[in-house]
Amino acid sequence: MERKIYAARLDRKECISESAQCFHFEFVIDELESFPFAAGQFVSAVAEDANGKQQTRAYSIASAARGNQFDLCVNRVEGGFFSNHLADLPDLPIGSIINIHGPHGHFILRQPVADSILIATGTGIAPMRGFAQWLFPEVGPDRSEGRQIWLVYGTRHESELYYHEEFEALAARKPNFHYVATLSRAGESWTGLRGYVQDHVGKIVEQRAAALGLPLPAPPIDPATPATEMHFDIHAYICGLNNMVSGVREKLAGYGWHRKQIIFERYD
Ligand SMILES: Cc1cc2nc3c(=O)[nH]c(=O)nc-3n(C[C@H](O)[C@H](O)[C@H](O)COP(=O)(O)OP(=O)(O)OC[C@H]3O[C@@H](n4cnc5c(N)ncnc54)[C@H](O)[C@@H]3O)c2cc1C
Repeated sequence: MERKIYAARLDRKECISESAQCFHFEFVIDELESFPFAAGQFVSAVAEDANGKQQTRAYSIASAARGNQFDLCVNRVEGGFFSNHLADLPDLPIGSIINIHGPHGHFILRQPVADSILIATGTGIAPMRGFAQWLFPEVGPDRSEGRQIWLVYGTRHESELYYHEEFEALAARKPNFHYVATLSRAGESWTGLRGYVQDHVGKIVEQRAAALGLPLPAPPIDPATPATEMHFDIHAYICGLNNMVSGVREKLAGYGWHRKQIIFERYD
């Protein structure tokens, strides 16, 4: 099927981590009045490489739907074609066009909203920013339905915690949004949490189960139950590189979580 390609115009670009060479981008699709998508979906960006070969890469949308605009959060992968095409300022000044198609993907919030643990490393934060903006818009009604939402965000160094101040401000504004930032290679001055995301996800699951008097591991669901009749009081949404995603999935499976409770997006 022929896909509709949109010209997305670069409206704003900011380096949000010098050390990780990570960039925040804001694009506008001038030919559309609105670009609707579900928070968490991705766009496919298309460009020709030096050999005239068409290259396509997926990038999670780092915002909730906002008119005809969308944000991306991309870090430079050494030797990589597309991430460098986007990150290289001289090649991509404001007003430049990139071609995209989409939105695509099923990494979206399950409805109705349940208590949720959002787990990300690196640029895996992009769809989580979309979820956070959709659940807790600055203007308009809160969509979190009073559920507890944890964002567990892990990186190596403090300078690689993208959108850190935004999430801190959101946690200060919304008592049911809990921002758990953890560093695996923190310097001495870091006073926050340390270690891998798996460790902190484990603590959240155990403390929540104890507070609500729920058994752990959770009792298994009858395999004959149709998917449409499965209801869960908590979901996990995981996004990042495969190693981390697998580690968290294994951890949650160990607590008896059902695979339908665990929604994930792998970048590699
Ligand atoms: C659904 C989906 C959503 C994605 N969203 C984002 C996003 O929001 N932000 C973002 O920065 N990336 C995202 N990615 C990854 C992105 O699609 C590209 O893979 C990444 O930008 C590298 O592309 P490249 O052309 O620069 O590198 P390539 O030329 O494709 O690869 C060069 C080398 O880097 C390795 N490599 C490829 N991808 C990665 C990676 N992510 N990290 C480390 N090494 C890698 C390859 O194995 C290869 O050896 C997403 C991927 C998927 C599948």
